[in-house]
Amino acid sequence: MLTVMNNALEKGGRDAASTDLRTEMRRRQYLDALGITRWEPRQAIDSSPMEVIETPTGFTAPAIIPARPVSLEHPSNVELDSRDWAELEAAVRSCTKCSLHTTRTQTVFGVGHRRAQWMFIGEAPGGDEDRRGEPFVGRAGQLLNAILFAIGLKREDVYIANVLKCRPPGNRDPQPEEVIQCEPYLLRQIELIKPRLIVALGRHAAHSLLKTEVPLGKLRGQRLSYHGTPLIVTYHPAYLLRNPADKRKVWDDLCLAKTVIAAMPDPGREKS
Ligand code: URA
Repeated sequence: MLTVMNNALEKGGRDAASTDLRTEMRRRQYLDALGITRWEPRQAIDSSPMEVIETPTGFTAPAIIPARPVSLEHPSNVELDSRDWAELEAAVRSCTKCSLHTTRTQTVFGVGHRRAQWMFIGEAPGGDEDRRGEPFVGRAGQLLNAILFAIGLKREDVYIANVLKCRPPGNRDPQPEEVIQCEPYLLRQIELIKPRLIVALGRHAAHSLLKTEVPLGKLRGQRLSYHGTPLIVTYHPAYLLRNPADKRKVWDDLCLAKTVIAAMPDPGREKS
């Protein structure tokens, strides 16, 4: 019996080693795709959530800049919002607060771990997301998954949502009124998840959350704050599909995000 168990354990060890190798090779492929050609292997975030990332040669981790006060208009019902997940999902599903409900196929609530440390917020669902009811499932979503993988995160361990829960027709830019109407849903999601850090994906998400029109290039590289949660701004994956040379900047931004998380007290969370 002992021999059988030992053999199984040995085989398990070999399988695990080859899985590790495959994972590492896949990660390297993703990093190559991101333009990160030199990579120091390190432990996955899951096993060491608070580690500071080894930056690729030639990249200096940006200093952490204290959260800058950002003036925000708080939607009036935020303080009173005590909805649980089911109530919130139902409210979003039946929402008719703006005209987008007339053109949507379905609402796109959000996806991922409900106690995630990392929350990624995009602009609004596109056509694929409108059809599937899940954020970032199209080409931009595949690139987002690759980016997550490259920095040691899994899609199912982070939370992904959008500023808007409904697709603007023809993927036009979100209108300010739509953002105002939809924001309480996002705020309640953040309250429920309590992420340690938010990553705003792209100019529209950053501008909608921060209530600013400061160019994205100027918002990057800083530890900002959204209703008290640290926020880092980076490029939208759809932009990266058109401008692959800027993938390196996203890597830098996510290194900053990891540095910010690493500098925070460990709340003893289990998930990334
Ligand atoms: N772009 C976004 O901002 N969000 C999505 O869900 C898909 C594409």
